[in-house]
Amino acid sequence: MERSLILIKPDGVQRSLIGTIISRLEKQGLKLIAIKMLKLDKSLAQQHYAPHKDKPFFSSLVTYVISAPIVAAIFEGEGAVELIRKAAGETDPAKAAAETIRSDFGLDIEKNTIHGSDSTETARMEIRLFFSDDEIFNYH
Ligand code: UDP
Ligand code: MG
Repeated sequence: MERSLILIKPDGVQRSLIGTIISRLEKQGLKLIAIKMLKLDKSLAQQHYAPHKDKPFFSSLVTYVISAPIVAAIFEGEGAVELIRKAAGETDPAKAAAETIRSDFGLDIEKNTIHGSDSTETARMEIRLFFSDDEIFNYH
């Protein structure tokens, strides 16, 4: 079954949006199979955002994502990657469609509340970065 990694970024945790965001994704019919709160260290933040390492926003982004705890979670379900990307909305909250997480809660193009894997291949890599096998649950 398809899986995707989400992160509730510092701005979401700090504004008490964890329950709201998890609930929105559960209501999409997605199944929560792993979840934890953690404070990223610089090295993990740099690895997670490695595809953006040459972008002008990279160092600010890394500083931001390590500034407070985040919540990492894995959702499973048919089309999980696309469902979550849709529920999150465009990167820039100002451009995100109405009723998306970023439109409703994102503060700006950096502090945009949620991360969702952008493909099934990325999801596999990101899940490996954040979770060990014994932290991922299989249940009916
Ligand atoms: N980001 C930023 N400035 C930008 C573009 C992106 O700070 O101009 C941050 C933002 O937090 C975004 C993350 O970098 O979520 C990764 O960027 P990407 O283009 O992959 O956006 P996403 O896949 O998260 O929508
Ligand atoms: Mg991305």
